[in-house]
Amino acid sequence: MNGTREDKIEKATKDILEAIGEDIHREGLIKTPHRVAKAYKYLFSGYEQNGIEILKSAIFKTSNSEMVIVKNIEFYSMCEHHMLPIIGQAHIAYIPNGFVTGLSKLPRVVDVFARRLQIQENMTEQIAEAIDKAINPFGVAVILTARHMCMEMRGVEKCNSSTTTSAYRGIFLKEQQYKSEFLTQIRNN
Ligand SMILES: [Zn+2]
Repeated sequence: MNGTREDKIEKATKDILEAIGEDIHREGLIKTPHRVAKAYKYLFSGYEQNGIEILKSAIFKTSNSEMVIVKNIEFYSMCEHHMLPIIGQAHIAYIPNGFVTGLSKLPRVVDVFARRLQIQENMTEQIAEAIDKAINPFGVAVILTARHMCMEMRGVEKCNSSTTTSAYRGIFLKEQQYKSEFLTQIRNN
């Protein structure tokens, strides 16, 4: 996101502040448009990153083909319908087919897709797809559980509901035992 884009966000934020009835010149708000532009640059930095490239930047050969699981990966995203936060956790598993990716790359790939405007269902698919393409494993499983501020702060105002979505590829679709093992593992915190 270059300077021009940040300038646009600053200007748009001023317009929103005025539209909601605020005095954009009062002390507390003077720097707000600038801060919002900086915050958006960070929250939407995923558009400039490529999940597959990140996973491929640390690939190691392995003869191990046991399930790799990384669970409870926190993420913060923004819904594409209301631009309000989605706060959740990702659980990822894959079965290596000759290659593994650095373990820290899995949380990073979650952030690549979280730091965009999202719907949870698509984000789940995008994470699975990136892992599938980057390391071509025997199978991939991704589960996201999240709270949606657009459901809690407005709309139905249901504060204790959470949404779970899943995406499976390869052997996780064909052989139930793998899916069961994954689900058992992520349940045991
Ligand atoms: Zn929403």
